[in-house]
Amino acid sequence: MIIVMKPNAEKREVDHVVEKVEEVGCKAILLEGTNRKVIAVIGDKRDISAGFWDAIPGVEKAVPILTPYKIASREVKKTSTEIKINDYILGGRKIGIIAGPCAVESQDQINFIAERVKKAGAIALRGGAFKPRTNPYSFQGLMEEGLEYLAKAREATGLAVVTEVLSPEHVGLVSRYVDVLQIGTRNMANFLLLKAVGEGKKPVILKRGMSATLDEFLLAGEYILSQGNPNVILCERGIRTFETHTRFTLSLSIVPQLKKLTHLPVIVDPSHGTGVRDLVLPMSKGAIAVGADGLLIEVHPDPEKAFVDGPQSITIEEFESLMEESRSISAAIGRYI
Ligand code: PEP
Ligand code: MN
Repeated sequence: MIIVMKPNAEKREVDHVVEKVEEVGCKAILLEGTNRKVIAVIGDKRDISAGFWDAIPGVEKAVPILTPYKIASREVKKTSTEIKINDYILGGRKIGIIAGPCAVESQDQINFIAERVKKAGAIALRGGAFKPRTNPYSFQGLMEEGLEYLAKAREATGLAVVTEVLSPEHVGLVSRYVDVLQIGTRNMANFLLLKAVGEGKKPVILKRGMSATLDEFLLAGEYILSQGNPNVILCERGIRTFETHTRFTLSLSIVPQLKKLTHLPVIVDPSHGTGVRDLVLPMSKGAIAVGADGLLIEVHPDPEKAFVDGPQSITIEEFESLMEESRSISAAIGRYI
């Protein structure tokens, strides 16, 4: 159920509705739209009719929600959610490009990349400190040392930093160092981790599970939202199909579908989505053209020497061209980078 308040509803009326919701054993999540507030009622209270809420002062109407994802749904919040990442807003007209190496390798490496991607127009630096590797003998990341390097790169450039968090126990530690948390594809259905990042307020980039349907993806986002963190960014990063010419199949058609169903920002990762350096530029342009609010791009000054994901990493120069070409596509659809 969602309760739509009248445009001129007073704060005490909103508070009273929240109290009522809690009185009947449900959780109230307040969503602030541009000209009115709505309250999402979370909990299984099918026996309370919409009429019960309609009668409360300040309430315009109570509407049952048909989708299983209540807070994420555009039925509940019509206006697109804009998420602040330091000085930038993701989810508005500006398309936010987040870039960096798959793994933080050294202070010099991360500082160098940070400076160059910032200069090219990226809004944030991304680098992995804890790496979820398929093979236990592969490089696992520099861990806390990597977080320190990221924090220093932020100090040096002013860029917001993004990194992946692998387990609920690490949420506190990682949150102390970075501005945005990433949940990787392998953890999209790690519900304890989703709840843990939902308890804070740091923006979360939630990557689509490589075998997750659209509904499962949105419900994973709902886990975070339902804990009270409204700052969820959905990221399409490719799914497993029978196709072998790319590492994953980048499902760009999910972008306009998500934009229709949810108010959350949607970004695309064409690096993991293809696994092929030469496909990163065309798929980035495609992603912008179909309505993505941002891109996540793996960049490395010397991809051949990258500790992780070299074959899909683009060089700094390729990144600069990608930014240029993406600017023209963005302008063609009335947006900018
Ligand atoms: C990454 O971003 O480097 C990563 C491991 O991503 P994914 O979870 O999409 O594989
Ligand atoms: Mn990677």
